[in-house]
Amino acid sequence: MATESIERKTVGKVRPHQTQNEGLVFEKSSPGKKAYKLPPLDVPAVDASSLLGETHRQASAGLPELSEIEIIRHFTRLSTWNYAIDLGMYPLGSCTMKYNPRVNEFVARIEGLAEAHPYRPDAQAQGILEVIDLLQKCLTEITGMDAITLQPAAGAHGEFTGILLVRAWHESQGNARKKILIPDSAHGTNPATAAICGYAVENLKSNSEGGIDLEALERQVDSETAALMLTNPSTIGVFESQIHRIADILHAKGALLYMDGANMNALVGKVRPGDFGVDVMHLNLHKTFSTPHGGGGPGSGPVACKRFLEPFLPTPVLVRSAGEPQSSVTISAAPGALHWEYDRPQSVGRVRAFYGNTGMFIRALAYILANGPDGLRQTTEDAVLNANYVRAKLEDLFELPYKTASMHEVVFSDKRQAAKGVKTGDFAKRLIDYGFHPYTVSFPLIVPGALMIEPTESESKEELDLFIEAMRSIAREVEETPELVKTAPHSTRVSRLDEVQAARKPVLRWRG
Ligand SMILES: *Cc1c(COP(=O)(O)O)cnc(C)c1O
Repeated sequence: MATESIERKTVGKVRPHQTQNEGLVFEKSSPGKKAYKLPPLDVPAVDASSLLGETHRQASAGLPELSEIEIIRHFTRLSTWNYAIDLGMYPLGSCTMKYNPRVNEFVARIEGLAEAHPYRPDAQAQGILEVIDLLQKCLTEITGMDAITLQPAAGAHGEFTGILLVRAWHESQGNARKKILIPDSAHGTNPATAAICGYAVENLKSNSEGGIDLEALERQVDSETAALMLTNPSTIGVFESQIHRIADILHAKGALLYMDGANMNALVGKVRPGDFGVDVMHLNLHKTFSTPHGGGGPGSGPVACKRFLEPFLPTPVLVRSAGEPQSSVTISAAPGALHWEYDRPQSVGRVRAFYGNTGMFIRALAYILANGPDGLRQTTEDAVLNANYVRAKLEDLFELPYKTASMHEVVFSDKRQAAKGVKTGDFAKRLIDYGFHPYTVSFPLIVPGALMIEPTESESKEELDLFIEAMRSIAREVEETPELVKTAPHSTRVSRLDEVQAARKPVLRWRG
């Protein structure tokens, strides 16, 4: 099929973008152009070489030279190339790309919070310390755990911190143990974490419902098992209903239960991991609690644990002096005041500069308080409802490898479409033409050709219907014009990239 007719068939919300032919800023440069005008020099000129000596650059740095409006237009145009949750549904499974409410941003920009310097003495930082303390209380209540650290900067960093706690506790019992059990449905960060903490990874097979095979678990747990790392709900969006028995089997052999809590958005307000036997877990504030994932920007991966692991938490730990607070202006040792405690002999040590990504704490707390307990429960129910709505509306067209009830996400496989030569990755690319960010492609690995869809609670029925219609329309295209799907996207500036070449031999430098 000719490219032109393919382009004309581009449908949905997207049209080729008028500013997509933006070149590199270097290509727009012309020598001598400036974006500033300075008054004439009114002091004696000094020869830079005499001041800088050998460090004085002789050749031009080759920086682009443009006028102010050219710079503004260039970057404004580039900014419109981004897809964002503020533009439309972003159904990236396991990533929980929920809307970041503007009130979070407003609160995080309040001057006294945004400008709070980490070196400020505790006595003068009581406001931000109260914010941190309140968030810690909310998160320990939500998870049903006893203690928490907010230091880790992301989910994987939380896993690392959590497994350090596991290791430190086993060491305090006289044996660090050798291995960590990880189900085959796990996120790739789990085995990476275990390995970096010095443990051997032992794979645990899932049963036909996508849960843990209890008999295999019984056989594999022994006196060298440090912990099981379990994602619940799992990466196929299924709740591990045997979680209590799993905890009992581990505990009977002195092993611990680590829960990857990245999917807590399916549980908040309904069940608490602390109540079903979890010893230590991490949360992703940038998933469950609506802080932005922001282009690689700061995340936050708090680790919550049971009382017996508390002595090992990273330092410093926030503690409140005994007694009633006296007034809002106190010295740090004053009764009721908060301060950072550094003297924790069993601590695994610091895992992050300062106290963690404080701006994320403020956003997450704003989200929790704005929703309140009933609102949080409602967001969980809406997230599960939305995923099941998508499931019900697409089940007739796509293979559903695990029929177990879905929680916050649904995982189909491309089995039927692959028979026509169209794979999950092709479907994902075609979704771009319909104005949607692709779902998660080819993960989890236990589902060959996976389409992992997580709508989150943010989406209205109207947006979900547009998405469902797009998926159904693409499925029709697979029957009628499979080439159209296999060569998508057709609405973007560039179409299919050589992904291997891009990863192996990236061109990161402009050579004029
Ligand atoms: C996102 C995710 C992680 C890793 O979190 P990051 O913040 O990206 O490091 C770990 N496990 C699961 C199940 C996840 O979805």
